[in-house]
Amino acid sequence: MRLRFLGAMGEVGRAAILVETREARILLDYGVKLSEPEPLFPAHVATKDLDAVIISHAHLDHSGAAPLFMLNGDAKIYATDMTFKLCDILLRDFLKLSGYYIPYEVLEVEELLRRGIRVEYGETIRVKDAEITFLNAGHIPGSLQVLINADKSVLYTGDYSLKKTRLLRGLNPGPKDVDAVITEATYALVEHPERRELERRFVSSVKEVVETGGRVLVPAFAVSRSQEIMCVLEAYNFRDFMALDGMAVRVLDLFLENRKYIDGYQLLYSASKHITRITDRRKRKRAAERPGVIISPAGMLKGGPAVFYAERVAEDPYSAIFLVSFQIPGTPGARLLEEGKLIHGGVDVKVKARVEQFLFSAHSGRSELREYLKRFNPDAKIFVIHGEEDSCKDLAEFARKAGYEAILPEKGRSYEI
Ligand SMILES: [Zn+2]
Ligand SMILES: [Zn+2]
Repeated sequence: MRLRFLGAMGEVGRAAILVETREARILLDYGVKLSEPEPLFPAHVATKDLDAVIISHAHLDHSGAAPLFMLNGDAKIYATDMTFKLCDILLRDFLKLSGYYIPYEVLEVEELLRRGIRVEYGETIRVKDAEITFLNAGHIPGSLQVLINADKSVLYTGDYSLKKTRLLRGLNPGPKDVDAVITEATYALVEHPERRELERRFVSSVKEVVETGGRVLVPAFAVSRSQEIMCVLEAYNFRDFMALDGMAVRVLDLFLENRKYIDGYQLLYSASKHITRITDRRKRKRAAERPGVIISPAGMLKGGPAVFYAERVAEDPYSAIFLVSFQIPGTPGARLLEEGKLIHGGVDVKVKARVEQFLFSAHSGRSELREYLKRFNPDAKIFVIHGEEDSCKDLAEFARKAGYEAILPEKGRSYEI
């Protein structure tokens, strides 16, 4: 069995791994890296050479380049039904924002949806001499870990989370006895806070602001984080005004319609009864003036209705902006945290609202990544990708100390296992 890495080496973005068995060529993910001014694509692979393409989950760093396979040939693309449905929302949005730089169109996205082959958690399919099994990765609804068994076996973790959240119960661990593991390393250098403690801190901060008549803007990712924040507030019986805006509203409805992918369905369902869906400009303006919580993309304040709300909340010392994820350096969210400033109508504004960060995460943190690696048999080769260089190195170093052969894959090389 041979592995070739086409992206995500020492970076978070454009995941793409080619697995070659004696007979089959299987591509794991084909994502993009969002960067300015244009998105970056993984190395090229010809559609006609592929027997199967598997999309681990809908995030663009795993799915963003997949519609390219619809341009010619007849590649078979496998993912969960939820992944295809989320891809429909995310890929269209990607085209709207960066269409000029993207070498496919809406037609190809529609074709992907139509031709995509739906797989279930726990299912095994056969592609030539390879058996491919799909396991729940616990990262976002529909996310997969992929196990490929031919004369050798390899487990691709995709993005994964060991921890239970309000929305998902977390990863369903794969077999321990494999020849190779391809692991993500996004937060190899970051220890995530204890979940319940984090939730309590978040909810009590929200209540403090709202009880004094303030507004809390929660910029959040449209997929999963926004809905999880609703669930957290619901779990603590938050009963003041709560609004949801932007793409997060469509994703909420998708989750409500696809119960089997949502472990915390009951909580999400009751939260959905207490939330006001913002669907037009008039409602948005009104929501921005009311005491309460507004959950809205984008999670790093880079576009989306969150920008509209941020401009209205920024100068009010009784209100707050609570960021609920890691903020990539250079984004408006990161700048808000570091310098307490936002750009409003082209000018810098000193933010008077309370600004805080709560590190919710859909990935495994340092300890979880380590804990998961340690379970594999001692001769498994560990390939570390999908993290900044320092993070990948750190996790590889840990694996070596634990007795494994750990590899930081390089561009253009093939690895025999
Ligand atoms: Zn992801
Ligand atoms: Zn990812």
